[in-house]
Amino acid sequence: MPFPIMRRILRIPNRSVLAILFLFSLSSSFLYFIYVAPGIVNTYLFMMQARGIIIRENMRTIGAQVYEQVVRSAYARRNSSINDTDYGLDFNHSESFLQTTTFLPEDFTYLPNQSCPERLPSMKGQMEVNMSEIQMSDVRQMFASDRIQMGGHWKPSDCIPRWKVAILIPFRNRHEHLPVLFKHLIPMLQRQRLQFAFYIIEQAGNQPFNRAMLFNVGFLEAMKDLDWDCLIFHDVDHIPENDRNYYGCEHMPRHFAAKLDKYMYLLPYNEFFGGVSGLTVEQFRKINGFPNAFWGWGGEDDDLWNRVQYAGYNVTRPEGDLGKYKSIPHHHRGEVQFLGRYALLRRSKERQTMDGLSNLNYSPNITYETFYKNITVHLMPELALVNDY
Ligand code: BGC
Repeated sequence: MPFPIMRRILRIPNRSVLAILFLFSLSSSFLYFIYVAPGIVNTYLFMMQARGIIIRENMRTIGAQVYEQVVRSAYARRNSSINDTDYGLDFNHSESFLQTTTFLPEDFTYLPNQSCPERLPSMKGQMEVNMSEIQMSDVRQMFASDRIQMGGHWKPSDCIPRWKVAILIPFRNRHEHLPVLFKHLIPMLQRQRLQFAFYIIEQAGNQPFNRAMLFNVGFLEAMKDLDWDCLIFHDVDHIPENDRNYYGCEHMPRHFAAKLDKYMYLLPYNEFFGGVSGLTVEQFRKINGFPNAFWGWGGEDDDLWNRVQYAGYNVTRPEGDLGKYKSIPHHHRGEVQFLGRYALLRRSKERQTMDGLSNLNYSPNITYETFYKNITVHLMPELALVNDY
């Protein structure tokens, strides 16, 4: 039945129709932001928060500098031999990171029977990041002479790598990001002289994306290949900006992606553990891996943080600007925000031993590519059941 006739029959006045339409459009855009555009709302909120912090910090720095200037000039006037203008105001209040750690000199000699050091002269610091799309064939060309084995396995030949690192990348529908990531990450890891391989764990099926469960699958599959000792959990769209952000593990779990451009290079909150993190095999087993119960965007990294704390660890982060990352801009194609995360997070502790590596079943489909091993899994909640707790 046409709408105006229906309206007349139902006796809905014109103004009410407009109001209903208005409310409907408001609520549907609200639902769009809540369900269909995960991350956008968060990113916006964190950006606003970050802007506030930056303004506050700048006011504080400027205030301190003005105060210092007043004190210094008063002092200078008293000791007239010192000229006022010697103390120019420095309004450059970007974070100055004092490089406290020394890197080895350029002429350092590598020895094939000795362990590769951590602070190598090949690690130069800030890298050039270019996020324009590039073909995988071009990246293959770039590394054609680098002896990278099928599946993306590489190790240095001039020293014994300090860490055997499996880089796990959860994946769905982001093919254009992979070459951009490899283009930056491969040379960085080579300069760090780590032994490494890439595992792309691809989610098949129509369930919401389960980043954490994909990491668990990736871990179990990677350990079948080699006795890896360090695991890096890496988002496909996060590009490191500094090659001194060393991808080896530590005595504590590490959060590498501490400063994201999308959050104006500030930590959105102290417990933020997203983007890129790393644990030793021992640490990962001890915390029972990631939770499997987080379907859709958000919360699984917060749960990992909780697990790490409950296991008695602290998280370390790279110093100063070493933990800077750029994120490849993209549309959140059909990803859904996981609103149930808050309820799950309240019971992280009770769930930890039941939900993780311990309750996971899956059947992978494996293929090898030049730079990675692809593990495709069809994920469903029935593959990781948690009994009532
Ligand atoms: C989510 C996390 C996410 C963070 C930053 C939080 O609300 O639970 O999963 O990493 O926002 O985007």
